[in-house]
Amino acid sequence: HERTLKLTRYPVRKNETLQAWDAADEYLINHTQEMELDPKRPILIMNDSFGALSCWFSQNCKVTSVTDSFITKKGSIANLEANQLPHVKIVDCLADLPDNPQLVLLKLPKNNRLLTWQLQQLCNLLPKDCKVIGAAKAKDIHTSTLKLFEKFLGETKTSLAVKKARLVFCEPDSALAKPLPAPQQWDVPEHNLTMTNHANVFSSDSLDIGARLLLDNIPQDGKYTEIIDLGCGNGIIGLKAAQLNPHANVTCVDESYMAVASCKANAKLNLETPEQLTAMVANCLEDVQHNSADLILCNPPFHQQAAITDHIAWQMFCDSKQVLKGKGQLIVIGNRHLGYDEKLSRLFGNVSVIAQNNKFVVYQSGK
Ligand code: SAM
Repeated sequence: HERTLKLTRYPVRKNETLQAWDAADEYLINHTQEMELDPKRPILIMNDSFGALSCWFSQNCKVTSVTDSFITKKGSIANLEANQLPHVKIVDCLADLPDNPQLVLLKLPKNNRLLTWQLQQLCNLLPKDCKVIGAAKAKDIHTSTLKLFEKFLGETKTSLAVKKARLVFCEPDSALAKPLPAPQQWDVPEHNLTMTNHANVFSSDSLDIGARLLLDNIPQDGKYTEIIDLGCGNGIIGLKAAQLNPHANVTCVDESYMAVASCKANAKLNLETPEQLTAMVANCLEDVQHNSADLILCNPPFHQQAAITDHIAWQMFCDSKQVLKGKGQLIVIGNRHLGYDEKLSRLFGNVSVIAQNNKFVVYQSGK
């Protein structure tokens, strides 16, 4: 096949060294070339990274892309537009999926809870003749991964590895269908919180040890009226800030739709006035008004999809500086070895340590 796509990662960075597609995308594309696809029946693309698969299939197929990531959504739209391709339908992982798909292309997520959720969702939906093809780096497809396919969707086989990627073929078996599980729930009694977590939420089965130290160091001060929890996950930091500062408006931001859905559920479950907290899907603070926040609390991510990177943390710090009012404060928790203090000091011209243990440090910088 002779087609060239120009694909870019999102957010776009100067001197990017990582590519916006991988060998598993190529393997899926090559494998499906010989298939006769019905242009009227939907194909589902699940967990595309930056829209490589959506771009490839959008020209001749009725594509629905399913993702938990706002960044994937933005990247897919940008890449479709850059290649002058038709738009595809992009929905989040909690949305209803289109009926009667003919093909599912499933990039295996890193998180097995999300994989399990998606396999169960598919088992409830797929007609018997629908083909399901999973794809990932061969080293990420374990016997336990294949067992999940067998348990939750149907009989499963794998391909040979090509360029260190492998495909997974699964025959949907409706006899395995069962109602989707409820989100995980656990208590944090020392903070009087009960947390609900959809499948793809960070640290969804227990309290993160970094978050624990930050929870003990959230300021309680009447002067904070606009507080942001940046990279909120299930919203635990924002909820605690709302409890300690009952007169403040708290905005929780995450790029994961499941995180934001969990955060909204947790506000209802834990706050006397749930309207005190707003949760929104966004890339860092890209869409938040400058000079609008008094206090930003942040437990930053240290990877984007498979890549370990601190560029999102850096974007979070830079965005925070713009979004804080004069005299506004940024409080960040980080693993000691990540050296966030050097970044914060470079950006704000000041940084202090407000708490630490043998693994984590809580830093504060003022605008
Ligand atoms: N605040 C929660 C806690 O302390 O348990 C979660 C912290 S977790 C280390 C980092 C969070 O940042 C994840 O929930 C992740 O989805 C989110 N995140 C990653 N990239 C992001 C981005 N570009 N914009 C907003 N949130 C992002």
